[in-house]
Amino acid sequence: MSVSSHLYRDTAVVLRTYKLGEADRIVVLLTEDNGKVRAVAKGVRKTMSKFGARLEPMSHVRLLLYRSRSNSETALDIVSQAESVEPLAPMLANLDRASQGMAVLEAADQLGLEREPNPQLYRMVVGVLRTIAERPAPLVVPAFYWKLLAAEGLRPELDACVRCGEGSDDDTQLVAFDLQEGGVLCRSCRSGVPISDAALDLMRAILGGRLNEALAAPESPATHEVGVLATRALEHHIERRLRSIAMFEH
Ligand SMILES: [Zn+2]
Repeated sequence: MSVSSHLYRDTAVVLRTYKLGEADRIVVLLTEDNGKVRAVAKGVRKTMSKFGARLEPMSHVRLLLYRSRSNSETALDIVSQAESVEPLAPMLANLDRASQGMAVLEAADQLGLEREPNPQLYRMVVGVLRTIAERPAPLVVPAFYWKLLAAEGLRPELDACVRCGEGSDDDTQLVAFDLQEGGVLCRSCRSGVPISDAALDLMRAILGGRLNEALAAPESPATHEVGVLATRALEHHIERRLRSIAMFEH
């Protein structure tokens, strides 16, 4: 490989940044083609930095990067150029939108793997940040979580009891949701937490190709229920994955 092959272009969302020394910053990027990448932005904390505010969390940027020569997965690349794709970060200046945006970045940071390309995750993150910026709604972030889980092969069963298969010709029979079981349960099998008909309808809309319908739903106890379930489901998945990685490493 020639030296120039260590220079590469990619597009990314900045997940988080932290200080390095007096003037530099490490940026954690979710890239389109290279998975999660850690890179040093030199001089970024100086007032006249050529990067300006382009490398803040939630920034959507086109980058030129130097790949570190080390083969270590955690080695730092170096940001050579950064230009803004679209100004997502300023649109998120509103506190509520900003906290929704941060929740998205955190989930992406947890699920993205270092240098493991996941263009689908990248596209989902860009899409949900745009939605938060342009037309925020109570279910934007919960829907993102459920779709992330579905993309990881963890689509919950919503149409029949996961234990006995009792179907949904009568929806009122499905009364509980159990993360361990992976879906809804009927009255006689119930475990986990209760789920209302309205929340179940919203989850079916999210995962059944009627996302716009779910995003149009005004804030209600049902949207809150779906939000709480989505957060628990994502945490459950991340914990289980961290445990299996720890076991694999021992
Ligand atoms: Zn059952």
